[in-house]
Order: sequence, then C-alpha cells, then structure tokens
Amino acid sequence: MLLKPSRYIVTVPTEQGVTLCNTLTKSIIEVTSSSANTVFAVLKSPNERAENFCETIEILRRTGFLVETGYDELAWLESQYRRQEEATSNALFVTLIPTMKCNLACGYCSQEFMPFEITEDGTNVLLKFLISELRNKGRLYLTFFGGEPLIRPAFVNRVCTELNNLADAESKKVEFMMVTNGVLLDEKVSRNLLLSNRVKVIQVTFDGNQKSHDSRRIPKDGSATFSRILGNVKLMLAVIAEKKLDSVRVMIRVNLFNETLSEIDALLDYFTESEKRHFRIYFRPVFNTDHWKKENADNSRLTEYFALAEAKGFQVSRNMNYGYQYCEGGGGANWLNIMGNLDVWKCSNGNSESVASASTCQCASEAAH
Ligand code: SF4
Repeated sequence: MLLKPSRYIVTVPTEQGVTLCNTLTKSIIEVTSSSANTVFAVLKSPNERAENFCETIEILRRTGFLVETGYDELAWLESQYRRQEEATSNALFVTLIPTMKCNLACGYCSQEFMPFEITEDGTNVLLKFLISELRNKGRLYLTFFGGEPLIRPAFVNRVCTELNNLADAESKKVEFMMVTNGVLLDEKVSRNLLLSNRVKVIQVTFDGNQKSHDSRRIPKDGSATFSRILGNVKLMLAVIAEKKLDSVRVMIRVNLFNETLSEIDALLDYFTESEKRHFRIYFRPVFNTDHWKKENADNSRLTEYFALAEAKGFQVSRNMNYGYQYCEGGGGANWLNIMGNLDVWKCSNGNSESVASASTCQCASEAAH
C-alpha cells in the first residue's frame, strides 16, 4: 500500500519536541525532540522508508497522519458536511450573543475586546429573522451565549416568549439553551428560565475547585463567586426535581488549570447523590491566550478526570460528537452565531470573520451553509 502525508497536519513546537495534530481525524501525537527528525522524514516520504520504520508508519497511518495515496480526504470531508447538511436541513442552530459584557472578568476571556450590545431595534430585526427561519425550517435550536446572557434578562424573555408562542400556534419546534456563569441564576431566575421560557439546557462553569475558581472567575472587585454559583446551581437542581422537569438537561463544565485529581475530587464532593441525577459534568482545559496556554500545559490527561467523576457516580459528557468539526465553537451545516450588532459568524471563535448580517435576513440564512 502506497502512502502520502495527510493534508490536515498541524505542527506545534513544545518544550519536549513537537506536537502533531491532525485536524481531520482529531488525532494528537507528542513527538520528542530526539524522534522529531525521523517522524518528519517518514511523513515526507513514507514509501521510501517503509522497511526501516514500519512501527512509526503504522502509528502514523492508524492516526490518519499518513493516508493511502488514492484517498481523497477533501472529498471525505465534503461528504461529511453534506451528510450533516441533509440531516439538519429542516433545522437551524443559532448561537445568540446579545452582549459580550459580563459581570465577571476572568483573565483568559476575550469579552472585553468586543463591546457590542443588541439594541431594541436589533432585537426586532433578529426576531423577524428567527421567526421567518422557524416558519420555513420548522425546527430552531437557540443557545444564549455571551458575555453573560443573564445581564440581558428582558432580551432573553422576549426572544423565548415570542418564539415559544409562535411554535405553539403553528406546531413548530423551538428549543432554548443557555450558557451562563451562574452568578445571576438565583431561584427566581431559574424558575423563570425553566418554567416560563422553557429553556431546556443550561450550562454553568466552574473554574476548577473552589480555591482556583475564586482566584479566576471573579468580578472586577475580585470578590469570591464559587459559593454563590454553587448555591444557585443547587437551587436550580431543586426546582428541576420539584417540578419533575425530566427533559431539562443541566451541564456542569469544569475548566481545568493544572489542577490535580485530588483538587477536582474535592469539587465533586460538593454535590449530593440526588443532585447528581439531574446534571451531567464534563472537563475542559482552558486554552485561549498565550499566557493561559503556557499556564495550562499539563492538562492533556482528561480521561483521568472523567474516570474520577464516573467513579463518584456522576453522569459525564465524555465525548461531544461534532462529526467532522474539529472544535466546539460551532461552524457546522445550518449553524450560525449572531452577535449583538447582528453580525453573523460561522463559528463562535471566528471573531474576525463576519460572514453576513442578520439585518439582511436572506444573507444570514445562506451563511448557515
Ligand atoms: S464568565 Fe465567561 S464571559 Fe464572563 S468573563 Fe468569565 S469567561 Fe468571560
């Protein structure tokens, strides 16, 4: 079998050598400095080195860094995209970012660089677009994101109320999700989101354990937020249990900053057995700026954190399946991110790549593809 290097290889120098990433197969290989020359030589001309480096070649082939010469990776990628497009052709997935302002000021966050806010007029235009899409497609999945979406409660209320009313009246499906830092998620807000607005998925983030969280997930005055957020999450879980809201999914995201397993163990112990039944938990290292990437270099062993949570009786979201997509920032077929100024991004990480404006409805709809 003749082989060629994948066209989707990204190399990142590290202190120990180099990390190879394949953005198509999502494989990651750490290569030490002493092996780097060999690996690059094999990648460059695998067929000439087949005899001497069969073990290296087998690893690179299995992980997708080497592929058969006749294999068309781009054609495979396009077929995956078309498949997802067909599967979601009667649905639109929208991440809505009404504001990038936040009541917290986490050091790794990009919110301060994007000061836009949705206006009353903007909300009117946005709703016109969403209503037209819900009518045309029949299914709309909307995620409130930010910044902190709960600092715009009237906006959230209005969007949910108008779209729920339309869906009820015309037998369409609309589903709301919210990603919040949890500071404003008191019992009244939880009841409103879950019972009136019918939000179906709520995600709250902790930055590691209490000590780590209170040093990073902080308002500008530096005060602690862990206890307040934990208390709010517990109140929300109590509402879900009381009202038997079995279709509601709560996600707890734990950001990792070089915490040890024992530190995360202490975080998990804050939840009771009955609370564990009402949410799923997952772990992610935080990578954003160069500073945080450096600070957070050791958190590649995510499986250990997932195994710990499972051993302690938590339901985990181990593997978010994004198909051909490499990251969790969106970007799939029929997927849009709409910003507070109505700019449309294909991906929530695409801050310099506005592809359309929701104020011109047709363009925004086309950008979903
Ligand atoms: S809570 Fe989220 S949006 Fe707010 S500062 Fe922290 S990371 Fe940024």
